[in-house]
Amino acid sequence: PKQGGADAEVPEWKKIASGKGELGKRTSMSIKDQRESLPAYKMRKQFLDAVRQYQLLIVVGDTGSGKTTQLTQYLAEDGFANDGVIGCTQPRRVAAMSVAARVSDEVGCRLGEEVGYTVRFDDKTCDRTRIKYMTDGIMQREILLDPALSRYSVIMLDEAHERTIATDVLFGLLKKTLKKRPDMKLIVTSATLDAEKFSTYFNECPILTIPGRTFPVEIMYSREPESDYLDAALTTIMQIHLTEPAGDILLFLTGKEEIDTSCEILFERMKALGPAVPELLILPIYGALPSEIASRIFEPTPDGTRKVVIATNIAETSITIDGIFYVVDPGFVKQTAYDAKLGMDRLQVTPISQAQAKQRAGRAGRTGPGKCFRLYTESAFQNEMLPTTIPEIQRQNLSNTILMLKAMGINDLLGFDFMDPPPTNTMLTALEELYALAALDDEGLLTRLGRRMADFPMDPALAKSMIASIELGCSEEMLSIVAMISAVQTVFHRPKEKQQQADQKKSRFHDPAGDHLTLLNVYNGWKGAGRSDPWCFENFIQPRSMKRAEDVRKQLVQILDRHRLKVVSCGRDTTRVRQALCSGFFRNAARKDPQEGYKTLVEGTPVYMHPSSALFGKAAEHVIYHSLVETTREYMHNVTSIEPKWLVEAAPTFFKVAGKDGMGMSKRKQAERIQPLHNRFAGEDDWRLSSQRKQ
Ligand code: ADP
Ligand code: MG
Repeated sequence: PKQGGADAEVPEWKKIASGKGELGKRTSMSIKDQRESLPAYKMRKQFLDAVRQYQLLIVVGDTGSGKTTQLTQYLAEDGFANDGVIGCTQPRRVAAMSVAARVSDEVGCRLGEEVGYTVRFDDKTCDRTRIKYMTDGIMQREILLDPALSRYSVIMLDEAHERTIATDVLFGLLKKTLKKRPDMKLIVTSATLDAEKFSTYFNECPILTIPGRTFPVEIMYSREPESDYLDAALTTIMQIHLTEPAGDILLFLTGKEEIDTSCEILFERMKALGPAVPELLILPIYGALPSEIASRIFEPTPDGTRKVVIATNIAETSITIDGIFYVVDPGFVKQTAYDAKLGMDRLQVTPISQAQAKQRAGRAGRTGPGKCFRLYTESAFQNEMLPTTIPEIQRQNLSNTILMLKAMGINDLLGFDFMDPPPTNTMLTALEELYALAALDDEGLLTRLGRRMADFPMDPALAKSMIASIELGCSEEMLSIVAMISAVQTVFHRPKEKQQQADQKKSRFHDPAGDHLTLLNVYNGWKGAGRSDPWCFENFIQPRSMKRAEDVRKQLVQILDRHRLKVVSCGRDTTRVRQALCSGFFRNAARKDPQEGYKTLVEGTPVYMHPSSALFGKAAEHVIYHSLVETTREYMHNVTSIEPKWLVEAAPTFFKVAGKDGMGMSKRKQAERIQPLHNRFAGEDDWRLSSQRKQ
């Protein structure tokens, strides 16, 4: 059935949308009913009145009340998109993609037309796009290019309670933009009650509260601490499935591997029970999941079956799945935190906060009274969990953020209007890092190189390697490597039942110099084979990942073009590629330890070669790595063997050759004894935090 009501009731911008023939017809009654049943709908008029009256507005409402999917549509229906785009930021890329898909459905247009999304390396918008969902990182890039954000009429900083670094920085930047753009509106939404704090920060702006519609949730705690939360979680799920009344289950785990493993185990356990028990649909959801699979979690559960969604933190607030009656919460989350011992960010599994625990439990009470099984003791909840989560900006590496602020001409970092300022030490570390990368000069001002680095949507170290490869004459190769690293977690397919075969195929690509060049070999092999899917299957490579890498590569070439930087190949002389990698990743250098494993050069922390590395079991003395992954130990990921003298060449301010004053040491010995320089500015007062360009 078509949408009811006279034509006059169809708002102007929707007429355009439904004017597109067959697309418009998809707006069915049922979607209309669904929309009108959401708590946000009752506040529609008040919301629009408030936006018209005030430039800044905070909206608070429980998760699932319709903030993300409805408010943007109300604005568009009310004419706010007539001379500007309505932009809505999301802390997570999957959320941006999934809500954009949902809203385009509701509006009745194809995704990427009137409603679209932009996430890193993936832009589904066009000139006609009126509602644009994007990650907060993308908005940050856009404000760097155009501080007035002239394309936008309204910005909605959504899920502000998540307090990602990008959202926190946007708080400060958008406050400035609003002064320059009296016609622009800013809406900040939050699912939690920290709204007062937001309001104080945003010039005492009004708060609109969407009344909740939640049911009581019964909380159950473990009597004893669980020694194996994964096993406890799966047992709890089976118990719920076999003994509790109908209703879907949501389990929170920390990451992809855990989720995939749990899905397999559950599947096996269900199979072992035979056909006598009702069916259990097992659905994973995490950031790296292809969107077609991810969207399956929203499909209604068929009668007589039950669904269990196994999710990362993404289902805590960003995504709402209807029909959940049971929540299983082991109490952990994987988050990035700065590790001073390693001098870099590291993904760590940490206990959640009390606020997160409440949020998770709340997910069970959206459709009716629910139950939440907390796999920790009540005393752990009371005494061991922090009341609220520490904002990212206070726990993560800031080099990316500071590079961006500097690129926007913001040099007075201490004076920047942060809602919660990052610790001074964290800022200093980031400045040191940017200085060592030569992105900042002696006075803490952005160099030309630094400005260039800011234009690459990636970590400063990777951007530096990319730019260094041009001078070293190997940008053709580096483009492929950077694309392969940035696009996906891995291109290698390693199915459980064929691991040996997969490993053997992979080893054919192995380069004696390590993983970066191995990735290059894969890319070139794929290209040489005409980018064919059969080639991928034969070699245990994921074709989808390769296509994504190719897509990312094209976008990187565009950035080089914009800067008139050349794409040149080094042919077989891949030593240069390794040198270029050194110029960005010199901090991540490690040396083989006589006992076992490696030790980082900077702090002497023990690290290990990951078994999947091309250098595993090889005798590489000095290496650099792209990242560290912690499982049972600190494993280096994407490792390349290097010569220590390249480190000195790459970062002379950071490394010095020990015993330079000549203690009878041979040149070779000297080169091998590389030590990081001591903090060059230690003790000095902090010019770097407040340097101003001299007149
Ligand atoms: P909030 O932002 O307040 O948390 P949302 O606008 O995200 O709320 O969600 C409103 C409703 O839309 C929820 O009931 C949710 O289940 C539904 N919804 C969101 N995304 C999808 C989707 N991709 N498919 C089906 N329903 C969805
Ligand atoms: Mg939302």
